[in-house]
Amino acid sequence: MEPNTFSLPEHVSPEMWKRIKTFAENKETPFLVLDIDDIRRKYDQLVNGFDYANVYYAVKANPADEIISMLAEQGSNFDIASTYELDKVLKYDVAPERMSFGNTIKKRADIAYFHEKGVSLYATDSEADLRNIAEYAPGSRIYIRVLTEGSEGADWPLSRKFGCNPEMAVELAVLARDLGLEPYGVSFHVGSQQRDIDVWDGAIAKVKVIFERLKNEFDIALKMINMGGGFPATYLYKTNEFDVYVEEITRFLKEDFGDEIPEIILEPGRSLVADAGVLVSDVVLISRKSATALERWVYTDVGLFNGLIETMGESIKYQIITERSGEAEGVILAGPTCDSLDIMYESHKYELPLSLEIGDRLYWTSTGAYTTSYSSVEFNGFPPLKYYVLPAE
Ligand SMILES: *Cc1c(COP(=O)(O)O)cnc(C)c1O
Repeated sequence: MEPNTFSLPEHVSPEMWKRIKTFAENKETPFLVLDIDDIRRKYDQLVNGFDYANVYYAVKANPADEIISMLAEQGSNFDIASTYELDKVLKYDVAPERMSFGNTIKKRADIAYFHEKGVSLYATDSEADLRNIAEYAPGSRIYIRVLTEGSEGADWPLSRKFGCNPEMAVELAVLARDLGLEPYGVSFHVGSQQRDIDVWDGAIAKVKVIFERLKNEFDIALKMINMGGGFPATYLYKTNEFDVYVEEITRFLKEDFGDEIPEIILEPGRSLVADAGVLVSDVVLISRKSATALERWVYTDVGLFNGLIETMGESIKYQIITERSGEAEGVILAGPTCDSLDIMYESHKYELPLSLEIGDRLYWTSTGAYTTSYSSVEFNGFPPLKYYVLPAE
């Protein structure tokens, strides 16, 4: 047991804390507070760091209108996964040249819809999908998603479901050309919240081999590498600074491609929007399972089904702020629904003060990504997580 004095995580300044707290007062929990300025700063940092890359925001991380409109204004491109996301982004007068259909799993009718709207850049990782693209979006540019290894360093892996092996990538590029499409590039995603930067090294090397083989054996010159997302947000476990990611990944590219680096696309989701969010919840109940039980259960009005799905398997560990202080002990943290899956943290014991009471607020920082977009619509009647945009200063 450690004494707990009230303290803020490093990335939350006292001024920001005050703004959020004042704004959150008297509002019914749970809800997310989003600071759009923070997303703008992260976007600037990204385009300044990777000044040779084109940024395609992965809309799924947080599809809030305010985020899309701000990024559209800043000149961002968009990585889009469904016709619904497409319609949403089109509302903000984003030209179809600034979008890609990044989902490798798509219906024929949806390909036709993207084509009709003018989108001409498509991800693929299978022959069947490639043939569908050739038929419903003829003449388009395609990039082939390859499997990446070493997603162990990722807190939220994405790799197993998507991508094909390099051999198949070569075959698909050749087939694309034969079908009248333009084999344009290769993509990968090293896994979300990737804390091991070296994983990019292996992925880029793999891409290089595909580029070489296509050039030497089939006279196909690919033009683009889509390096996906994977850049980190500020959770409990430390990551390298963003600048280190920029330096290292740029070095990997130069090692493999020298001065002839192809067009580079980045598809950040989490790293742009996560740190801009603070989720505000109430403590619903505190209990012990027997008179002698060592551990307290703390139930909050937010759980896996209304915003915290990424705590599944305790994958993403958010930092939590409480204003109570004093002696603390490890608790089990769970959500409000009648499903025993709805437990956020049990193996990892968050230390919360013994003085914590029902009705107290818990503030979950860096919750701007994969929370609102990931919540159920009516499980146990609880509505999806709502959000507010923090008014400008
Ligand atoms: C989800 C996703 C992203 C965003 O990844 P983050 O790790 O959140 O940055 C990028 N590209 C594709 C294809 C995705 O599916």
